[in-house]
Amino acid sequence: MLESILETPPDGLPALFARARGVRNAHFGNRAYLRAVIEFSNNCRCNCHYCGMRRDNTSLERFRLDAAAILEAARMAAGEGIGTFFLQSAETEEYDAAWLADIIREVSGMGMNVLLCVGARDESDLDLWRDAGASKFILKHETSDPRLFASMKPGLSLEERIGWLRTLKRHGYAIGSGPLLGLPGQSVASLVDDLLLLSDLDVDMSSVSVFLPAAGTPLAQSPTGDVDLALRFVAAMRIFLERTLIPATSTFERLRPGGQLACFEAGANVITVNMTPPARRDGYELYSKRYFVSLEHARAVIAEAGLVESTEEALG
Ligand code: SF4
Repeated sequence: MLESILETPPDGLPALFARARGVRNAHFGNRAYLRAVIEFSNNCRCNCHYCGMRRDNTSLERFRLDAAAILEAARMAAGEGIGTFFLQSAETEEYDAAWLADIIREVSGMGMNVLLCVGARDESDLDLWRDAGASKFILKHETSDPRLFASMKPGLSLEERIGWLRTLKRHGYAIGSGPLLGLPGQSVASLVDDLLLLSDLDVDMSSVSVFLPAAGTPLAQSPTGDVDLALRFVAAMRIFLERTLIPATSTFERLRPGGQLACFEAGANVITVNMTPPARRDGYELYSKRYFVSLEHARAVIAEAGLVESTEEALG
């Protein structure tokens, strides 16, 4: 069933997407969820072949935001009624867990859910951050193909990554994961395995990003991922996983104007506004020439999709 969804011919797409929207609406009604992200450090100890922030990319200017800059963005998000604040960084030990715990506490005190995406850290950090108010954690598995994973993420293993997701769950976090679609050598069969893995992990949030090459990386000349296949993947997540929160990621909009609306049409129900200070955000180079989602754009997409802005708090 999953393979046939991913291989749906073009004339079958309207019906596939309508089915996915039907599943979404049955579980979430007409609600869409707005988040705000701040990317606070682009220093990374890892060397992933597809990412501009990889350790060996010496041409990238590195940055780390201070607490004041992060909290200013959080106050802006809270003032706009955004329910979830997303603290994201590359994998680094340059800040200590207590520093981040203080920020989490402040953001949580503003009445927002705190979502973390900071990579693997000490297990003891997880309790500290959860007790400070963080409730959700995203760790992308990128690909369920162990060999592709090992070739794209030198020194890391898929098994450990999956183990870390289970650890997050054990420590009381709602978890999110998903693949990067379009990595060289990735097969449709492995995308099916991505869906099975997400189901097996019983994720609360699932997502797909479309591969875009980043300058200064071994994949700088590789072709981009296929947006139409990625939209089928969004629909497959919605139909198969049903209740997960699924973001319309910025890679869709970067590759195709209207791409995030197309994600909503395929069953997505989350959009994330980028609140990283403009002087810094180019440095968070997951891929080159990023698309930055503004509040106006996010709200326009939700309205065009015929949905109503809500907060994840309302999910209970
Ligand atoms: S994908 Fe994440 S872990 Fe890998 S190099 Fe980029 S920021 Fe670091």
